[in-house]
Amino acid sequence: MKFFALWLLTITLSSAKLTVSSLNPILTDFIERVGGDKVEVIQVMPLGADVHSFQPKAAQVAKMQESALIFAMGKNIEQYLGGLQQTLQGDQQIIEVGRSIPSQKVDADPIYSCCPAHSKGAIDPHWWHNVENAERAVKVIAAALEEADSTNKGYYQENATALRKEYRNLHNWVKSEVSKIPKKQRTLVTAHAAFAYFCKEYKFEAAYVEGLSRESEISAKQFADTVKTLKDKKVRAVFPEKLANPKMLKQIALETNAKVGDALYADAITTSYKKMIEHNVTSIVNALQ
Ligand SMILES: [Zn+2]
Ligand SMILES: [Zn+2]
Repeated sequence: MKFFALWLLTITLSSAKLTVSSLNPILTDFIERVGGDKVEVIQVMPLGADVHSFQPKAAQVAKMQESALIFAMGKNIEQYLGGLQQTLQGDQQIIEVGRSIPSQKVDADPIYSCCPAHSKGAIDPHWWHNVENAERAVKVIAAALEEADSTNKGYYQENATALRKEYRNLHNWVKSEVSKIPKKQRTLVTAHAAFAYFCKEYKFEAAYVEGLSRESEISAKQFADTVKTLKDKKVRAVFPEKLANPKMLKQIALETNAKVGDALYADAITTSYKKMIEHNVTSIVNALQ
C-alpha cells in the first residue's frame, strides 16, 4: 500500500505541469515554444482582440489565480496591470517581458497614436516589431520558467536556445528582404503609430495617416496635409492594418497614386509570431520595391 501511494505520488509529480498565464497571444507563442509539454498556458487575451483596449473579465482574473506566473508584454500596453497586481495572491508574480527591452518614445502627432496612454513622448509599447526584441523576450521568459520550475531547467534552456536561434535567422531574413527596397523608397505609411521599432531597426522612415480609432475621421485640413506630405515623399504604397478601418487609407492612396499594400498585423497575430513578421515583411517588400 505504501509502495502504491509512493508510485502514485511520483506519477502525479512528474506529470504536473507549471501553470502560467499569458496576457498576449504573442507571449503565448513564445511561452509554448520554451515551455513545451512542461507548461500549461492560460491565454487571457483572445486572438484578434485589441491590445490597447482589452481588459480581463472577473472570471479571467479568477482563473489567473491558478497560475504561478503571469506574463505581460509590458511597457504599459496592458494598462490594467496595476489593478491586476492588487487582486493577486502574495506568491504570484507578474513578469513584464518588455521591461528590459530598450525603449523608444512615441514620436507621432496624437491623432495617429493608438490611444491616449501612448501619445507623443510616452514609451512606445510596440517592441515586438524588431525581431531582436523577440530574442530578448525569449530570454526573459526562459529565465522566469527556470526559476519557477528548476527541475526542468535544462529543458527550458534547450528550447530557448533553439527558439532564439530561429529568431536570429528571422531577423537576418528581414534585413536581407528589406535590402531589396532602395533606401529612398523606404517610407512605411501605416494607419497608427505601431511600427517605430520596426522602422528604426530596419531603416525605414515612418509615416502615419489615420490613427487606430475605427470611427473618428481626420479633418479635411489634416487629410490635405497628409496627401501633400506623402506626395512630396513620393511614397509608393500605404498599408492598412488588420484591425483598423482601411477607408481613409484607401482615399489617401487614391489621391497620392500610391498602391494599397496587403494589410499589416500591428498588434495581433493569427498563428505565430514568426508568421506575423513574415507576412508583414513580405507585404512591405512586395509593395515598396
Ligand atoms: Zn495604445
Ligand atoms: Zn498598437
